Amino acid sequence: MAENLNLFTSTQVVIQEALNKLGYDEGMFELLKEPLRMLEVRIPIKMDDGLVKVFTGYRAQHNDAVGPTKGGVRFHPQVTEDEMKALSMWMTLKCGIVDLPYGGAKGGVICDPRQMSMNEIEKLSRGYVRAISQFVGPTKDIPAPDVFTNSQIMAWMMDEYSRMDEFNSPGFITGKPIVLGGSQGRDRATAQGVTICVEEAAKKRGIDMKGARVVIQGFGNAGSFLAKFMSDAGAKVIGISDAYGALHDPNGLDIDYLLDRRDSFGTVTTLFENTISNKELLELDCDILVPAAIENQITSENAHKIRATIVVEAANGPTTSEATKILTERGILLVPDVLASAGGVTVSYFEWVQNNQGYYWTEEEVNEKLYKKMIDAFENVFTVSTTRNIDMRLAAYMVGVRKTAEASRFRGWV
Ligand code: NAD
Repeated sequence: MAENLNLFTSTQVVIQEALNKLGYDEGMFELLKEPLRMLEVRIPIKMDDGLVKVFTGYRAQHNDAVGPTKGGVRFHPQVTEDEMKALSMWMTLKCGIVDLPYGGAKGGVICDPRQMSMNEIEKLSRGYVRAISQFVGPTKDIPAPDVFTNSQIMAWMMDEYSRMDEFNSPGFITGKPIVLGGSQGRDRATAQGVTICVEEAAKKRGIDMKGARVVIQGFGNAGSFLAKFMSDAGAKVIGISDAYGALHDPNGLDIDYLLDRRDSFGTVTTLFENTISNKELLELDCDILVPAAIENQITSENAHKIRATIVVEAANGPTTSEATKILTERGILLVPDVLASAGGVTVSYFEWVQNNQGYYWTEEEVNEKLYKKMIDAFENVFTVSTTRNIDMRLAAYMVGVRKTAEASRFRGWV
């Protein structure tokens, strides 16, 4: 049978397995197997050349039994309805794993912001908010940045929502610039969370971070901050990559130099002649491998060739189910995406809390609170994995889905 590369259906399979292990009946899976609400919108934009282009956007709300839903908005040409559904389910799991009072959501617009002017991107951001305005809000569903969206886009979206609402609504969206109610530490939060997971996993495998050999696929928001945190922790980052290729130096790369030279889309390898491929990068001899780029990178094709002791998924969905099985059988410790990349939504939650109370925390306070959330989450998932003798992904799904399942049960939905 062909390997399942569909993120939505492969997520459903693990959710069903997790619910079975937790002792829920089929009715609970029927409820949680897809979003409660899925909105498709069409957004007309007058482009710079005067012609009107109509963009398609989505907002998926997986489940709001626990509280308002939460999840990013991506602007990308390959956005699909299935992808939105899967990502909204992962947000439910992430919020459950780090114990936030939210359910999961996700949004997206099919577009290529790299081919659009700032003026067109602003119109699209505002148009998207107008289109979904009745569906979202600070106590209903709270958007955030994701692939190819950033704090400027969040600022336009917040402004548009506040104009419609007729009062300032900073809690409508997170990932805002600091002056508009953004949180300290939000831009680094995902990489901070991944770093905590890498360090905890290293302890479990008896690896000293000082001198540990680390390979990171992707040098964007998540990958580049992570490379910096790893090298600051004394690890040797021996490989990094972007969409165009990879760099390898067994003695360790000069991360500060690479950070200085990378562009805003996370590209740096094009400046070098001596590069290797992303495929070769993943198979490098190392202690810790962090896929921080795109989905379906470790599959049944290359899982046998991975030489890392620990794989920590910073990207969403980089390892297929079959590859997860192969890595686990080979004794490689796999820390799954829904746990490892939950730092971003955690600090987004902190931003929303600060907006609601109108009182703002220092970066140290944010980091301390994030550290506690991530450590508790890691230990919780690791304990379920060892006591039940299951892989960390299934354990994370069990921990993540439980809160929403229980809230749905108490509300009498199932
Ligand atoms: P980004 O767009 O800032 O960077 C992506 C990086 O991946 C770039 O260096 C790009 O060149 C590289 N890349 C793109 N296509 C590639 C390919 N085919 N092969 C190898 N490299 C490729 O994105 P990001 O925000 O760093 O996110 C990376 C991953 O982490 C995504 O899966 C995202 O969903 C996940 N994630 C990010 C956050 C966050 O807060 N940034 C939070 C949770 C999960």
